[in-house]
Amino acid sequence: MKASTIDQAGPHGFASRERPATAALLDAPIRWPRPSLLEAGLDLTGKAADGAAALGLESVGDLLDHLPRARREARTVAALVTGETATVLVEVRTISQRPVRRRGMRPLVEASVFDETATMKATFFNQPWLAGRYPPGTRLVLHGKYEGRSSFKVSHHAVTDATGAADGAVSHYAATDGLSSTQIFALMSAARPLLTEVSDALPALMRAGQKMPDRAAALGCVHFAQTAAEVEAGRRRLAFEELLMTQLGLLRRRARRRSGDPAIGLCDGPSLTGRWLAGGLPFELTGDQRAAIETVGDELGLRIPMQRLLMGEVGSGKTVVALYAMLRAVEHGHQAVLMAPTETLAEQHFQTIQRLVGGENVTLALLTSSTPAGRRNDILGKLGSGELQVVVGTHAVIEPTVEFASLAVAVVDEQHRFGVRQRAVLDGKAPAGLVPHVLHMTATPIPRTLALCAHGDLDQSRLRELPRGRQAIETHVAGGERERERAYERIREELRQGRQAFVVCPLVDEPDDSPNAIVARAATAEYERLATGEFADFRVVLLHGQLHHRDKQAAMAAFAGGQADVLVATSVVEVGIDVPNATVMLIENAERFGISQLHQLRGRVGRGEHPSLCLLFGPKGSQRLRALADHTDGFELAEIDLEMRREGDLIGTRQSGLGEFRVAVIPGDEELVEAARTAAARVIDGDPELREPEHALLAAALAAAHGVDRLELDRPIPA
Ligand code: ADP
Ligand code: MG
Repeated sequence: MKASTIDQAGPHGFASRERPATAALLDAPIRWPRPSLLEAGLDLTGKAADGAAALGLESVGDLLDHLPRARREARTVAALVTGETATVLVEVRTISQRPVRRRGMRPLVEASVFDETATMKATFFNQPWLAGRYPPGTRLVLHGKYEGRSSFKVSHHAVTDATGAADGAVSHYAATDGLSSTQIFALMSAARPLLTEVSDALPALMRAGQKMPDRAAALGCVHFAQTAAEVEAGRRRLAFEELLMTQLGLLRRRARRRSGDPAIGLCDGPSLTGRWLAGGLPFELTGDQRAAIETVGDELGLRIPMQRLLMGEVGSGKTVVALYAMLRAVEHGHQAVLMAPTETLAEQHFQTIQRLVGGENVTLALLTSSTPAGRRNDILGKLGSGELQVVVGTHAVIEPTVEFASLAVAVVDEQHRFGVRQRAVLDGKAPAGLVPHVLHMTATPIPRTLALCAHGDLDQSRLRELPRGRQAIETHVAGGERERERAYERIREELRQGRQAFVVCPLVDEPDDSPNAIVARAATAEYERLATGEFADFRVVLLHGQLHHRDKQAAMAAFAGGQADVLVATSVVEVGIDVPNATVMLIENAERFGISQLHQLRGRVGRGEHPSLCLLFGPKGSQRLRALADHTDGFELAEIDLEMRREGDLIGTRQSGLGEFRVAVIPGDEELVEAARTAAARVIDGDPELREPEHALLAAALAAAHGVDRLELDRPIPA
């Protein structure tokens, strides 16, 4: 077995030598190695088999890919404390069965075990056969409880290496009821010889360039290494490979779009946009806006479909850039659509656009699911005839009945909230054989490294500079009744001067099951309390997602029009409300919101000429709230947010954050992300479909990692 194993294992003789590079062969699905001992099932029965299945471990290959979560320090025997649950690395000195008097119980096994610090008695229950299996000299990893008096009750056990790790650490695995971490370690040790079967997908040159071990060696390090440094070397290699797969998938998607159906080249000189930029805008563009407009203009002029992500904080002026792109379509006699994830946002964009278009003669319409049928039919008719040039709306704009005469530009706001499929439908709205140029927008500023992972298939522009005249927002963390009193008084002062205020609550209603135990402020109750109490002298309105559309509109309109002084709301105000006269935002239970969400909420104030204030009610010690108080730059806060999500140096832990990496840890592996991006770009630039023989294993690994054509990296970004 050993010999044949080695014969099959060498990846480099593959396609280049053994397989003729004919198209038919190269187009065939590639599985390697074929057949492989790694596909053998695990030899388990009963609870352990169920446990393995629950962990997704079916084959030896799955097992070897099941990376340890962490290396936990093994305790020394001398250091054990009575009552402690611990893992120890020991050697068996003597071992024997001892009958138990009670009926129905199997004999115990007792072993005298030792490490370099002390000797103790280890007791194994219900497994009389162990006495024969673990002869003196066997090295064991034992997990269990130290009962005191040199006595250890074993709950899980496994044979370890001859020596154990030099730094006294033990790999710990994600486990289930049926299959413990220690059992997994035992299986792993048994499977260790099969590491030679593991093939390496990285082209030899790339691996050499990165100075990284091959995959088999990396797995060996991660499972069995003697030192933490070796584990890290193995982990880095596996992380690089994981990040490389992500980048290959993203860049291949980008390449496919660029070489697929073309877009309409909008390359005539400016007419409408020229006038509009020169004199139609009520303000001066920021440098970032100008740069973005220039880039977008260049890309729209090509037949290669634009796929650009415009990142900019709330209020950074993305809509102007989007409108420029749309007006480019209009001045070429084509149409444009802007799609937003909520009605509130769509309405907001519509108003901003109406205002920004100014005196220019552009036909615009708003289309959402609450557009009345008559109006809707009118809009659909005019879109079909081309009479309507720009439509703004929710996903209602991509329903099957919506047909455009000639859609050339699409803007997708908060693009991470839409799925790949919805965007594909949007593509289908362009004339047959064409796709629209697409400008994606997001107000969630994320660090560059994460943007490469989350949106690496899109070209990116950032608006960092806030438009001139923006006021910094003073932010305080407040808690306790006194501060609450002071806060309300401060808000009343603002209101008396004619300003307006937001009060944001995390919930709509108090939870039904515990009406008395208010765990978080609920908007409805808070509205009633404030309207009749603290703000009884002012006009207070309520806004939350469960209200009837009519009531929502009424509340928004009242607040926007200045007929309401205070808007009590849930986080529905997070995006899309632009009321420059609002100068205070009070956020209840602020600790329930994420950093980026709080930052977005805060962006609803400070939009006018008056200095603004944000009051975060929550625990004073909260690092997150402190960060908000100390920083106003969204990109900076994004870095801090990321840092706080760090889960330590754990291996194999799925990050709750972006990308969902199994091995890579961000922050931490930024430099690996960059390296993977560069390596992937080099591959895709020369061989976008990975058809070259030297990329055959890479193609197979990519298919295994992401599915042949599928790469679902566009799940919503958690707050
Ligand atoms: P975003 O969509 O990025 O949140 P908007 O494009 O809606 O930002 O712009 C927010 C507000 O700022 C709008 O009222 C817009 O008219 C205004 N605005 C945009 N760009 C500028 C600028 N360069 N100078 C002044 N005001 C601007
Ligand atoms: Mg906007």
